[in-house]
Amino acid sequence: MRISVLGSGFSSLSAACYLAQQGHQVSIYEKNGNLGGRAQQYKQDGFTFDMGPTWYWMPDVFERFFQDFGHVPSDFYSLIKLSPGYQVFFGKGDVFTVSDDLNEIEQAFESIESGAGKRLKSFLASAQSNYEIAIKDLVYRPGEHIFELITPKTAAKLGQFFSTIQADADRLFTDTRLRQILTFPSLFLGAKPSDTPSFYSFMNWADLGLGTWHPKGGMYAVVQGMADLAESLGVKLHTHAPVEGIGVIRGEVNHIVVHGQEIATDLVVSGADYAHTEQLLPLAYRQYSDKYWNSRTWAPSALLFYVGFSEKVNDVAHHALFFDTDFKKHAHTIYDDPSWPEEPLFYTSFPSKTETTWAPEGQEAATFLIPLAPGLDEAPEVIEEYFNLILTRLEFLTGQELKSKVLFKKHFCVADFVSEYNSFKGNAYGLANTLLQTHILRPKLKSKKVKGLYFTGQLTVPGPGVPPALISGKLTAELIAKYEPKP
Ligand SMILES: Cc1cc2nc3c(=O)[nH]c(=O)nc-3n(C[C@H](O)[C@H](O)[C@H](O)COP(=O)(O)OP(=O)(O)OC[C@H]3O[C@@H](n4cnc5c(N)ncnc54)[C@H](O)[C@@H]3O)c2cc1C
Repeated sequence: MRISVLGSGFSSLSAACYLAQQGHQVSIYEKNGNLGGRAQQYKQDGFTFDMGPTWYWMPDVFERFFQDFGHVPSDFYSLIKLSPGYQVFFGKGDVFTVSDDLNEIEQAFESIESGAGKRLKSFLASAQSNYEIAIKDLVYRPGEHIFELITPKTAAKLGQFFSTIQADADRLFTDTRLRQILTFPSLFLGAKPSDTPSFYSFMNWADLGLGTWHPKGGMYAVVQGMADLAESLGVKLHTHAPVEGIGVIRGEVNHIVVHGQEIATDLVVSGADYAHTEQLLPLAYRQYSDKYWNSRTWAPSALLFYVGFSEKVNDVAHHALFFDTDFKKHAHTIYDDPSWPEEPLFYTSFPSKTETTWAPEGQEAATFLIPLAPGLDEAPEVIEEYFNLILTRLEFLTGQELKSKVLFKKHFCVADFVSEYNSFKGNAYGLANTLLQTHILRPKLKSKKVKGLYFTGQLTVPGPGVPPALISGKLTAELIAKYEPKP
């Protein structure tokens, strides 16, 4: 069968590989000039930046993906385990270093609060068991029916769906810093820790148990690896190929439109944002209304800066979180009252700490990220104000002058997410994974209204993040194998 795949993010690349393996003729159509979706790479004046994802978590998911094609990740890229995994700045001279060794992390917890090391150990034992259940099994189920989730193992964990990660952190630790370390991974799910069920502690196991990795060459090396694999399986890759419409005849997919030309196709798989893909269909064939999309809890958007510094930035690790302000207040501006945060938390990545060629000798490449509510208006002076604000904080917290060392900065914000990726309200990573937006409660992989139309990606199952995107592509390909006649 001829299958047209929209977009070339991780989910589209994954779906394309599995579908080509099934024997289909697969073509990817990507609107932008590069493959990889949100995982773009930016280069300027001898500096390199990963523009989107930077944390490589859950290495087993990548292994499982490549294994399905008789490969291992190292056939395409090599991995470095970051040591330390990352740092968390709570104030000047108050920095928590997350080691790459679990015993050391437990000792660091213990040094802050008596008994905390032991409590963390027992919490992580449960988190590891949740990881085995969720990431090795449940997330590989397509969300067609609630019964997929009901197993003896999940039944035994039922209580964990009615408590939250925030409540667990508050119960286990008195020290706010320890609570924040435990609740941070929920942010990858796009939701507030107080809306994230306890069962999702598998993210804590991914963080503290499995560690933070870095693919040599950056996240784009993973994109390149998947694109090479796709090509080796016969997938045709088209860039600068925006899909402008999906043609439906008598309720069945017939063609796609690219640059005004109709391209005949038997099936369509869209890894582009779901809400956008539905706009490509005549109204009668859309499954979800504007009201539906507007009522969802979206993962945050973000203000990002890619900065070249003329000197090395000292006393910061490859990844650092700046939690020296009130997270609850910042979260309120993202989820409850969409507005610019007064005292934002932010994240920095200094990839040239690991990738020595990503900045000229003696210089530093830096990425700054402030999570924001999707849909916010942005004015140039606001962008400049936030750059100054976070650079001043970084200078203060690390005790060094940096403003005069900025060689250049490029920013990327809400409107860029819309124009670059057709992202709904400029969300950075899809629909949040709250209890009410999990599994069967997420937008469906298979269209109910158009025969031959399928979806994949971070708005579908299992949810946001690179590992889920790989899984999502596999799930869609499996549904196609289940529902469509053999080629
Ligand atoms: C700033 C940022 C930081 C992140 N950090 C991490 C992290 O550290 N770790 C992690 O695991 N995850 C992270 N994520 C999330 C992760 O990057 C995403 O969940 C994942 O990449 C989504 O992949 P996808 O295939 O679902 O969609 P996308 O990557 O959005 O791909 C969709 C593609 O469709 C294309 N498209 C849209 N409309 C059309 C059209 N009409 N025709 C053709 N093509 C079209 C878009 O251009 C895009 O290339 C981050 C995301 C962002 C934005």
